[in-house]
Amino acid sequence: QEEHQVVRDKHHILTEGEGIPPPIPHFADMKVPKPILEYLKSKGIKKPTPIQIQGIPTAFSGRDMIGIAFTGSGKTLAFTLPAIMQSLEMEAKLPFVRGEGPVGLIICPSRELARQTYDGCLAMCTALKESGGYPELRSLLCIGGINMADQADVLNRGVHIVVATPGRLIDMLDKGKLNANNCKYLCMDEADRMIDMGFEEDVRSIMSHFKYQRQTLLFSATMPRKIQDFAQQSLINPILVNVGRAGA
Ligand code: ADP
Ligand code: MG
Repeated sequence: QEEHQVVRDKHHILTEGEGIPPPIPHFADMKVPKPILEYLKSKGIKKPTPIQIQGIPTAFSGRDMIGIAFTGSGKTLAFTLPAIMQSLEMEAKLPFVRGEGPVGLIICPSRELARQTYDGCLAMCTALKESGGYPELRSLLCIGGINMADQADVLNRGVHIVVATPGRLIDMLDKGKLNANNCKYLCMDEADRMIDMGFEEDVRSIMSHFKYQRQTLLFSATMPRKIQDFAQQSLINPILVNVGRAGA
């Protein structure tokens, strides 16, 4: 336990909560699939950042979590990689059948951010697929301005990870084009911005479509009162992972 705290201190990682998983300072020790490791390496991503060191093990463990770290600190990978790893585990246990909804759902406050996040997920899924050694994972971008019919093929084959903006997602859930029945991982990126933009009710409405126990994650650069309140209402026994700037 003490050695874990040494790692956290070294990387300015503050944690709160019960039963916090150990931080893991190397991707190779995180059970990240090899093709994804190779892909990350090709992008210059060789060592996890502090939010990833504590956030990836926490998110992968299934616990609810609030991840706070400054802009540019690698939060995206801290929630997309666990979503992919959980989808792989699920696929190994219980292969997808046609038309099933996603395992992981990532909500972003803007189309641009959703697209970037989706591109990263897609690249990791493609790396897995091209390696030939892993089940195919499908991801879907669900934002306004995209023809819903174009998404039908992915939806019909069963999608593992959906990256969405709230408006289009609610539309698709309400129209029954997408279901959250098997979804177990819900992540809100830029939660502070989402709440500021008035998406709180939308997110609650999305949550109402979940059938089973879900894991909920909030990521943000700041933690104002309204995020704490939202977390209190929507998360269960969460772990807080808060990374400060060195010396700040
Ligand atoms: P945030 O969401 O915290 O603002 P991002 O997830 O957008 O940050 O990441 C910012 C940049 O850092 C991206 O270009 C991303 O590819 C890069 N990055 C992420 N993780 C690492 C890492 N472990 N090592 C090096 N670069 C990284
Ligand atoms: Mg971000």
